[in-house]
Amino acid sequence: MARYTGAVCKLCRREGKKLFLKGERCHTGKCAFERRAYAPGQHGQSRRRKTSEYGLQLRAKQQARRYYGIQEGQFHKYFLMAERRQGMTGENLLRICESRLDNVVYLLGWSNSRAQARQLVTHGHFLVNGKRVDIPSYLLKEGDSLGIKAKSKESENFKLMLEANEARPVPQWLDIDREKAEAKVLNLPERDQIAVPVEEHLIVEFYSK
Ligand code: SF4
Repeated sequence: MARYTGAVCKLCRREGKKLFLKGERCHTGKCAFERRAYAPGQHGQSRRRKTSEYGLQLRAKQQARRYYGIQEGQFHKYFLMAERRQGMTGENLLRICESRLDNVVYLLGWSNSRAQARQLVTHGHFLVNGKRVDIPSYLLKEGDSLGIKAKSKESENFKLMLEANEARPVPQWLDIDREKAEAKVLNLPERDQIAVPVEEHLIVEFYSK
């Protein structure tokens, strides 16, 4: 599947907010947005025109897509799936994005960023309910268990990464046993347990036109 391979910090600067796409670096003074909080390019520092309603909706959709690293086609499919579910479409949409295997791997601290999580999943380092799953978009359900493949867990690179991410808080909807490098999805997250910095009603408005 096609994916964005350009400079990710430009995406934050384009969106005018931090999307936390680079792991630990995002929380340090090296963050490009902290140093240059304006859009990239020649006219990035010129005064911005007032954004239209459509513009706001488009930006919210793009921000959520970029935050999770999801391509347009897939994101639209998630929207249609969210519409068919009971409850608020916007919340359903974010819940679907949150439950992707690559996102959960990142939230558990088993990768330094969502982009790295996607790569590690593709390389088959993780187990879902005891079976190897190498599809980053695999949607987890309540009660699913996760683990790291025994051989991967023993590798020096993995050990260092797990150690480095140990202090990162894990959301309450996930239960983790750091010793065994195992985890469980207790339930799918409520809106207040989802950290994505967007107003999801704008995304619903965008697709409902
Ligand atoms: Fe965005 Fe992280 Fe780059 Fe900062 S360091 S601009 S938050 S991706």
